[in-house]
Amino acid sequence: QAKKAGRGQSRFFSNEINVRAQERLMFENALRDALQHNQLHLHYQPQMGLSTGDLHGVEALARWNHPAMGEIPPARFIPLAEECGLINELSRWVLHEACRQLASWRATGVPIPCIAVNLSVSNFQDVHLPSLIAHVLESNGLLPKDLIVELTESMLLDNTPGVMQVIEAIDALGVRLSLDDFGTGYSSLSYLRRLPVSGLKLDRSFVVDLEHDEAAQALSSAILEIGRSLHLHVVAEGVETPAQHHILLELGYPVAQGYLYSPPLPADQLTSWVQSSKEAIRDKHKT
Ligand code: C2E
Ligand code: MG
Ligand code: MG
Ligand code: MG
Repeated sequence: QAKKAGRGQSRFFSNEINVRAQERLMFENALRDALQHNQLHLHYQPQMGLSTGDLHGVEALARWNHPAMGEIPPARFIPLAEECGLINELSRWVLHEACRQLASWRATGVPIPCIAVNLSVSNFQDVHLPSLIAHVLESNGLLPKDLIVELTESMLLDNTPGVMQVIEAIDALGVRLSLDDFGTGYSSLSYLRRLPVSGLKLDRSFVVDLEHDEAAQALSSAILEIGRSLHLHVVAEGVETPAQHHILLELGYPVAQGYLYSPPLPADQLTSWVQSSKEAIRDKHKT
């Protein structure tokens, strides 16, 4: 009896595994298609000076709009791209597209100071990444200071040989590196010492709790202090409420990013957003 049930069960499981493998393969092929057929695009989220309202730069975030499945979030397709070996191709596209867009904004007089892109750990295992970055900047008429590369500390945990050399070569180009989601990894501080980063981004999880949690405030303040003493640019992520904005301003945060100012937007909408916020600042100074 038990044996029979056991066999039935394992058949059930292997069917389930098959279905999952098939789903995955389908998803993987869909992503490959998306890269080939331009179904990926970038949205751009402004980074704001907290006291001035000035635009400090924009972060490019990948979007995948699948004709049948709809919007698929990067939290799903980035890990997939990493697992199935498409991440280098994806990041190459992101770098090209972000730099092309920045150059096009500059050419049409839209004042975007710089652009940040997110890269994955496998990207830093590619010894060709620094020369790719140099090439993409040059072919778009941009300077190294126009680009910021965001990396997460979680991806550095595996200490893969070669990663550090690639990071150092990117730094040597003059491209700035920024540690994303700062404060969530468990060895944040040692990375600040080892990596040639010029900025860090306070993780959204601290910002969410600022209003009600003194520990979140104390840690946000301490992180800013650490950043400052190392001469790093510090950006707070995920600001959603005026109260969070005010607390960060009081703590001395220079720059922030979040839905309060703007969600990530398609390029044309970001252009309008920049133009209308410029007018808003001008009007403020008039009165
Ligand atoms: P991230 O780099 O930390 O990006 C910030 C995420 O927070 C974005 O989610 C953004 O839309 C979201 N966000 C911004 N402001 C707010 C806010 O006020 N409230 C809340 N709740 N969320 C906010 P998104 O676009 O879904 O991206 C998620 C993550 O996927 C990114 O986190 C990044 O790690 C990764 N990712 C996105 N695009 C790319 C890419 O082109 N390449 C790579 N390698 N990773 C990417
Ligand atoms: Mg980021
Ligand atoms: Mg982040
Ligand atoms: Mg994040």
